[in-house]
Amino acid sequence: ALTITDECINCDVCEPECPNEAISMGEFIYVIDPAKCTECVGHFGEPQCVQVCPVECIPVDPAHTETRDQLEHKYRTLMIAS
Ligand code: SF4
Ligand code: SF4
Repeated sequence: ALTITDECINCDVCEPECPNEAISMGEFIYVIDPAKCTECVGHFGEPQCVQVCPVECIPVDPAHTETRDQLEHKYRTLMIAS
């Protein structure tokens, strides 16, 4: 999963781009739910939030590093649940 750092300027552009609805407004800045972020695997070739973020504040979450297989499994699980 990816994560949003405190460099986020709350510009709102990433939230509607997420195909998994993993991004929401947190207490101070936008946050990513690691249970829903597939790094866009299953939907797009590149993470859509990273593509649109003007301040490049969305790195891989060191607490939630995943393999491609794990991300694909998460994608399939989310699709079944939705
Ligand atoms: Fe959503 Fe994709 Fe960004 Fe993850 S990488 S938060 S799935 S837009
Ligand atoms: Fe924050 Fe970047 Fe999302 Fe804008 S696009 S709300 S700066 S994480």
